[in-house]
Amino acid sequence: MNDLKNKLDMVRARITRASLKADRNPDSVSLLAVSKRHSANSIRTLVIAGQTHFGENYVQEALEKQQQLADPDIVWHFIGPLQSNKTREVAQHFDWVQSVDRQKLLLRLSDQRPDSLPPLNICLQVNIDNEPQKSGASSTDILALARLTTELPGLKLRGLMAIPRISAVDRTGSSSFDRMRHLFESLRAEGMEVDTLSMGMSSDLESAIKAGSTMVRVGTDLFGPRN
Ligand SMILES: *Cc1c(COP(=O)(O)O)cnc(C)c1O
Repeated sequence: MNDLKNKLDMVRARITRASLKADRNPDSVSLLAVSKRHSANSIRTLVIAGQTHFGENYVQEALEKQQQLADPDIVWHFIGPLQSNKTREVAQHFDWVQSVDRQKLLLRLSDQRPDSLPPLNICLQVNIDNEPQKSGASSTDILALARLTTELPGLKLRGLMAIPRISAVDRTGSSSFDRMRHLFESLRAEGMEVDTLSMGMSSDLESAIKAGSTMVRVGTDLFGPRN
């Protein structure tokens, strides 16, 4: 219990320190607690300590925990690989989806979002280092996917998400995080009102914040190793 609270305090302190070092307001970076493979009880402990945004990777596991917690104040993000046969459950039970990388998923999520709920918040996932084993759209497809998202009634485009290669720096010296920031700003330059650049995890949140991340997704350093 106390251990989880201490870890939360430590992660928050890291976010504050990294923001100040980058001349940024610490409030401009939010924390998503990645609770995959951790129990509803652990989530509850963090909720009591003031954490509200939680990320899950597996639909079935997430639905079970949502039922156990039954807490309307938790904001649930789906961040795992998404198959089209799971979009209905995701559209019904999550507030955000950060792992959308193709048109078909956008169309289904919008269609399947219940009218009784606000539009589903969307971050498009970018395969920023073009790694064949990773999901995510290629940077060149992002503008078209973003435009489509803004046109679908069940969805609200919030921004971009990536899981870059560890410390990938290209020939020009710019990191994957920097390239994500440029892509994000290119959407703004097209007039899109995006506010979320989701990048940075336990091991690299400092460099992500330096490059302009507005949401870090932390699992291991909050909850310990996964079960
Ligand atoms: C598991 C996961 C994380 C958290 O990773 P840690 O290294 O445990 O902090 C963040 N983002 C995504 C998409 C994940 O799947």
